[in-house]
Amino acid sequence: MAQLESLNFDNSYLRLPESFYQRVEPTPLRDPHLISFNPAVAKLLDLDPCGIKPAQIADYFSGNALLPGSEPLAMKYTGHQFGVYNPELGDGRGLLLGEVVNKQGERWDLHLKGAGKTAFSRFGDGRAVLRSSIREYLISEAMHGLNIPTTRALCLVGSEEMVMREGMMEPCAAVLRVTQCHIRFGHFEHLYYTRQHDALKELADYALERFFPEFLEAEQPYLAMFTEVVQRSASLVAKWQAYGFVHAVLNTDNMSLIGETFDYGPFSFLDTYNPSLISNHNDHQGRYAFAQQPGIIHWNLSCLAQALLPLIEREDLVKVLDSYPERYRLAELAEFRKRMGLQLEMEVDEELIRDLTKLFASEAVDMNRFFRKLSDFDGSEESLANLMGLLRNPAQLTPWLLKYEARLKDEPASFPIRRAQMRSVNPEFILRNYMAEEAIQQATKGDFSLVNELLGLLRNPMEELENYEVYAEKPPEWAAGICLTCSS
Ligand code: AMP
Ligand code: MG
Ligand code: MG
Repeated sequence: MAQLESLNFDNSYLRLPESFYQRVEPTPLRDPHLISFNPAVAKLLDLDPCGIKPAQIADYFSGNALLPGSEPLAMKYTGHQFGVYNPELGDGRGLLLGEVVNKQGERWDLHLKGAGKTAFSRFGDGRAVLRSSIREYLISEAMHGLNIPTTRALCLVGSEEMVMREGMMEPCAAVLRVTQCHIRFGHFEHLYYTRQHDALKELADYALERFFPEFLEAEQPYLAMFTEVVQRSASLVAKWQAYGFVHAVLNTDNMSLIGETFDYGPFSFLDTYNPSLISNHNDHQGRYAFAQQPGIIHWNLSCLAQALLPLIEREDLVKVLDSYPERYRLAELAEFRKRMGLQLEMEVDEELIRDLTKLFASEAVDMNRFFRKLSDFDGSEESLANLMGLLRNPAQLTPWLLKYEARLKDEPASFPIRRAQMRSVNPEFILRNYMAEEAIQQATKGDFSLVNELLGLLRNPMEELENYEVYAEKPPEWAAGICLTCSS
């Protein structure tokens, strides 16, 4: 197992044309201290978590020291923000420190978010505040625990430096984001709209080789890659819809080419099911409201398709884009079937799911607590009462439950097997905003224990954990008053 200094860097992005990035060193954060370190991510890099000193981590991942082999750069990309093209984007406060190749040959990007100004910072200060860094750090682990594709995070470092956000001074922090892919839809848009079509081809070849080598020998490699991106994006948003996750800033620069949940901001999980929930106070039109997400991903894919026009025939792109709604429908069906414990695929399932989400909406049901309790539903009075207690009008559940029980009769699995299968996909714990808020409030006072406890809890969200039962219960009243903005 490696020490930090012996990480095996090989920086392939740096070998691309210089117009793809700006070489820039991090601006050190003042008086850094380690808040949390994630051993599960350390393993991906072959790091020995026990052999690393907190002060070392704080220095390397706050810009105060550079790891041997690290060659930091800010990536250039553009994108559509709230439907409007912005040519000025790029890494404005995060730097790609380099790529680490582990013993299995996996290549992991290390990206330090909050590393200071770059050529793409525009009016920003290049920093990330403690509040939003805690949220990104925890949600990365929580999404991974739910088996929802996501970027990961190795560590969270705090500092004494302060910056202004919405009229208030706040402490800065940095998160070390780890993922195999920092290529966004916006990388392609940049080269398309600046008419750099040779460079666009170079980027597509790089992406193919690095992320989709299985298509290198395909008849039309670029088209095969685009089809895969469409499929992965459809599968990803289906998971968000099935688990009540609102990303809240689905701009094309926040879309990962490999279909991971990427760039966390004012995200939420629905505490009560509300299709029109807007999780970002700055999103006045509700463009990124919960129910809009599948359509927005389709729109974002059409932006990517546009950018690929110099490489792929228009008709081929359109055909694949047109296949998105069906890919999404099938992916969503599959997610809900799993959550409902249905292994067979039957025609009635779609209606059963539609009826259930309608009921969730009309009765303001907490869908994640519902599915957890549905996992334990054995027809007993107690298990029935547990479910009904989640509706404003408990009697409204009866017609749906009768249909569900009838549908279960076709299933081969016995109750204990179905229960185990359902409990493995229906979490006891999700990262609710109020939980993140509690961790943030304590951290602001210098107590990081809850950040670390939640990290452990959310890593295995399907497991019940003694002393943490409260986080599986109804959120407190004040949770409804939490207001998140782009600066979150
Ligand atoms: P986001 O809303 O996080 O996707 O960010 C959109 C763009 O704004 C990206 O180019 C970011 O790098 C940039 N950005 C966000 N916050 C800051 C900041 N504090 N300083 C500089 N650039 C920023
Ligand atoms: Mg972004
Ligand atoms: Mg962001």
